Amino acid sequence: MKLPFAALPLETSTIDADGTLTLRYECPLCHRESSVSGVDRDRWQAWRHGITGPVTEVFPHLTDGEREILKTGVHPACWDLAFSEEALAEFQDDDALQPYNPE
Ligand SMILES: [Zn+2]
Repeated sequence: MKLPFAALPLETSTIDADGTLTLRYECPLCHRESSVSGVDRDRWQAWRHGITGPVTEVFPHLTDGEREILKTGVHPACWDLAFSEEALAEFQDDDALQPYNPE
């Protein structure tokens, strides 16, 4: 059984009045909070333990961005920024790839 890549939610995640989860994460790119609400608890538990299928099948009602947060905690806007043409161009710039040297 292969476990899906599922980010570890923060302890501030909650079970809401309707019994669904609001899962909160720390975005690894900007370190601010990201969250997804209305997540079915049983489905989420089964998914993260690899019992059910891919995230798109288990959570068809969530947006692509919300599913990405469940997997990585990364905000959709942060993905866009990190993989924008400008960012990729910078990555291909030789100067940007020099190792850090404090001297
Ligand atoms: Zn972010």
